[in-house]
Amino acid sequence: IRSTTVPNVDGSNNTEDDDEDDVVDLAANSLLNKLIRQSLVESSHRVEVLQKDPSSPLYSVKTFEELRLKEELLKGIYAMGFNRPSKIQEMALPMMLAHPPQNLIAQSQSGTGKTAAFVLAMLSRVNTLELFPQCLCLAPTYELALQTGRVVERMGKFCVDVQVMYAIRGNHIPRGTDVTKQIIIGTPGTVLDWCFKRKLIDLTKIRVFVLDEADVMIDTQGFSDQSIRIQRALPSECQMLLFSATFEDSVWQFAERIIPDPNVIKLRKEELTLNNIRQYYVLCENRKDKYQALCNIYGGITIGQAIIFCQTRRNAKWLTVEMMQDGHQVSLLSGELTVDQRASIIQRFRDGKEKVLITTNVCARGIDVKQVTIVVNFDLPVNQAEEPDYETYLHRIGRTGRFGKKGLAFNMIEVDKLPLLMKIQDHFR
Ligand code: ADP
Repeated sequence: IRSTTVPNVDGSNNTEDDDEDDVVDLAANSLLNKLIRQSLVESSHRVEVLQKDPSSPLYSVKTFEELRLKEELLKGIYAMGFNRPSKIQEMALPMMLAHPPQNLIAQSQSGTGKTAAFVLAMLSRVNTLELFPQCLCLAPTYELALQTGRVVERMGKFCVDVQVMYAIRGNHIPRGTDVTKQIIIGTPGTVLDWCFKRKLIDLTKIRVFVLDEADVMIDTQGFSDQSIRIQRALPSECQMLLFSATFEDSVWQFAERIIPDPNVIKLRKEELTLNNIRQYYVLCENRKDKYQALCNIYGGITIGQAIIFCQTRRNAKWLTVEMMQDGHQVSLLSGELTVDQRASIIQRFRDGKEKVLITTNVCARGIDVKQVTIVVNFDLPVNQAEEPDYETYLHRIGRTGRFGKKGLAFNMIEVDKLPLLMKIQDHFR
């Protein structure tokens, strides 16, 4: 598979205000997760399926062979190192590849194999003899579109006649160009422009429509409406697929508006628990004192690997500088870095090249680094009302019960913050 060249990507997230808390940017987090992803995320839950026609038989597959794919596609799948379908793919693939095509809404956390599933569906439905766009995939950002494109290229490595093209800002295609690529991946705004204004894509010829990362999509101003405008122009026989990592009501409402007569597949996330975490607190006078307490345990925490959480970027930076000046080896992960820089820091940490990672809340959600044994809350997580932020506390130190190992957590507490800690203690019992 070949693709057109794409412009450089700069996922930087610079802000002038150094004192800002790092806001959680859904799209950046999602990209980061993709960049650092090494394998499938497991879940001990069962896949829930809601069929549009409950009387039709429910198929699931345990092998890729059962799907009767084109040989070159099967080769691509095995070349990626996939041995068998993931949990969600077992149920989703037969539906996605069925004749006649079925629509699907699928929700499962990132890393469970959704992208691989819809890429496979797109690749298997392309007619290589026809040189016009046949599959259209919407993604919330430029960078996420590129990531999906890379999967298409890898899985389609042996499908030499399939080509992919990116409808993203900066990819200027002159009006009147005859677009011959069969798979188009792009952001809603640019796709809309290519379809309606510049007439580069004929939506009536699209066979597979994919809306990826629906939760991130609806979080972006204008994207829901643009996606719906695109969807409305598709032919009724077009297969429509929607994916989301989370499923709040708002995502659900959007999904039902945009996907007619869907089957629904859900895979619940592994719950976080504090059961196998020993939690301690160290009572301190002030920040300097907290720093001293941290240094006192430094020798102990570097036996394994540790993450130290601060509430603000400024605090994280201060702590990093202090520790480095005292000769401790630490690395800093904060929201002012580009996503690529963050990914490389996390990768170094994962590879054990760094033992101690100092970070703000950017790292608390989603990004799992399995081998962390010790978490230090240099600052307690609080919300804007200065109340304890229980959820963030759980995300910082919690583990999934089944796969998590035992862990240790230390909270550095200034005396006046003790009531906050007591509230956390009561909350989690
Ligand atoms: P999601 O879209 O849900 O985030 P991905 O499709 O990106 O999940 O898959 C997560 C990771 O697991 C990727 O590294 C992908 O290459 C890999 N993966 C996907 N499906 C399989 C499979 N059946 N077997 C092994 N690895 C897989």
